[in-house]
Amino acid sequence: MVDFLVDGSISSLKGVGPKKETELKGAGIFSNKDLISAFPKQYLDFSKVFSLNSAPLSISCCIKAFFGKVLFKRLTKNKFFMFYKIHLYDDFTQMEATYFTSRFNTLRFKYNEELLFFGQIKINKLGKKELVISNIKKGIDATEGIVPVYRKRGTISSTFLAKLTKQLVFDSKILAKETLPDYLLAKYSLCPLNFALRNIHFPQNEESLQKAKRRLFFEEILLLQTYLNKAKEDKIETTFNKIGNNFLEEFSKLLPFELTNAQKKAIFDCEQDISSGVSMRRLLQGDVGSGKTAVAACLIFCMVKYNKAQVAVMAPTEILARQHYENFLNLFKGKDINIELLCSSVKTSRKRLIFSAVESGIISVVVGTQSLLNENLKFNNLGLVITDEQHRFGVNQRAKLANKGGTGAHVLVMSATPIPRSLALILYADLDISVLDELPKGRQKVETFIVDSSKRTRVLEFIKKNVNDGHQAYIVCPLIENDEDTNNHLKSIFEYRKNLEKTNLKDLKIQILHGKMRGEEKQKIMLDFAERRINILISTTVIEVGIDIPNANVMLIENAERLGLSQLHQLRGRVGRGTAKSYCILISDSKAKETRKRLEILKDFYDGFLIAQKDLEQRGPGNLLGLEQHGFFKLKTRDFIKNMEDVLQARNLAKEVISKKYDQFIDFSQDLELFTKNNGETISL
Ligand code: ADP
Ligand code: MG
Repeated sequence: MVDFLVDGSISSLKGVGPKKETELKGAGIFSNKDLISAFPKQYLDFSKVFSLNSAPLSISCCIKAFFGKVLFKRLTKNKFFMFYKIHLYDDFTQMEATYFTSRFNTLRFKYNEELLFFGQIKINKLGKKELVISNIKKGIDATEGIVPVYRKRGTISSTFLAKLTKQLVFDSKILAKETLPDYLLAKYSLCPLNFALRNIHFPQNEESLQKAKRRLFFEEILLLQTYLNKAKEDKIETTFNKIGNNFLEEFSKLLPFELTNAQKKAIFDCEQDISSGVSMRRLLQGDVGSGKTAVAACLIFCMVKYNKAQVAVMAPTEILARQHYENFLNLFKGKDINIELLCSSVKTSRKRLIFSAVESGIISVVVGTQSLLNENLKFNNLGLVITDEQHRFGVNQRAKLANKGGTGAHVLVMSATPIPRSLALILYADLDISVLDELPKGRQKVETFIVDSSKRTRVLEFIKKNVNDGHQAYIVCPLIENDEDTNNHLKSIFEYRKNLEKTNLKDLKIQILHGKMRGEEKQKIMLDFAERRINILISTTVIEVGIDIPNANVMLIENAERLGLSQLHQLRGRVGRGTAKSYCILISDSKAKETRKRLEILKDFYDGFLIAQKDLEQRGPGNLLGLEQHGFFKLKTRDFIKNMEDVLQARNLAKEVISKKYDQFIDFSQDLELFTKNNGETISL
């Protein structure tokens, strides 16, 4: 039996005494495997050293220069960081540099000391070159090559992690067992796993680093696909298979509107699944406002009425959970269906009551947040699990909830993330897919404008006029608070409110909302907005998810160039939900042609899937909404899109693996562990 280094213990590494071992464990590092699977978050390439003058613009690089003096320093508002402005020079050039670092990291450099600066040259507001420093090193020369930077873990510094990992990587023993046979490595032009693991930490050169990243990315997709495709093959029998006669007719009577054809079709798909006797696993994809909730309600009705089963509905935020809860209460009024809300703000005593009522089966429908994963919540007869806005949950969370009922519970995943079908088939390989590709009748188009700051006053006047007409408005800014020194072209919600108080909107009721607020506080603000006690809500993108307030008819988005098209489209979907004419105004001062072109797409298109497709085609920096991290594994959509070829190949290979084509060669058990560690850094190519 080969002794794989990944299986060894950290205590045998040099530099790890009993004290350090405790510290490492405190930081979640128990074994060599933990060390190896925590990939660097960044690399410093000391193999190419530039002078201040020759360094490229906007590309991370290493620059050798002399330390002049600190021009000034200041604590940042949150008091965590120190901001320095430094003067640098070399034989030909002088330059100012900025450096953010921990407040405890005092700069101990001497005047005229020659140092290596890692960072990017930018053009500042005054049109002058300026170095934005990310790291400063002394006493390192070019022979160091590419050096990893790790995320600081507890009290464990990047330098210490590098020291330990280096011992592992350069140890002559084999790090980990190869998962793929040689001929498959050759077929897909992949480097061996051990090469990849060594070079992801200490790359010999840029090319080796790219090879390593590609191999590890491929491996990740392969594992994900093997897992998802396997899950799809596992057919679980269920007894929740009854559909009442005239069930759709009966349900439709509860609705104040007629179902769209797309909704009917989706319900039909679900009916087929349910009556098949095998538990349903279905993704319901539909643009914002397409009416996914009504489909969910229909299935709830079917489960509770005809199968005497319980249903769990999980939403990513309390605001959404409460909205669903109230929606269902309203819809099923007088129908003898007990519905309860369970989220963290519910008092413990009440939670206990709910737990016991759910366990005894008195409650049929529980709507909530992650609180539903609480192990004290046990179901009597769980027949259906619905998760809304799935991309916020991991695959494993969904499974955890579904397994609460023993086996056989149906699963419906609802998502407004308009990912193109090609991508959906990969990311949701374990699910069947239904699409709501039609908006309810009479839904108006939200008129969309793109303007620059010079029009802001007029836009605000326009908002005031709409508020005077009885409507409400959203204003979205990218930041919560401004830091004066950086990003000062970006709007922050605090500053915005302050500025509005100086305009003739000052008499309106303006409130702010952001993700760092406590749940209860957010809840109260949303309720105030819903009940029209607030005219204008200034917020960060937290409102992007599913909020339904029909009276709001203006959406103003500042620094629109910062957001992806899909995300902008989702924000736009917050208005145009009522009968009043609605507007979405994008403010951007970006002069870049590409950006203008990108934003213009929103003026011409209203279909989330088409917009996502356009986003995809442009392959701009904008990530497809919500998939930045796809649960389970730490994959970024950006990587998916950039490496579609690899993704498809890995997917096909996964299918072959499942069909046992290579079974004797491939053993993923160790890898699954290696790669599913939460501490593994995202691999981006
Ligand atoms: P989403 O798919 O974004 O979750 P919702 O389910 O919240 O959309 O529905 C958006 C709005 O459209 C809700 O106010 C809902 O009552 C309404 N709605 C849903 N289906 C229809 C329909 N068939 N006809 C008219 N209005 C509908
Ligand atoms: Mg919704």
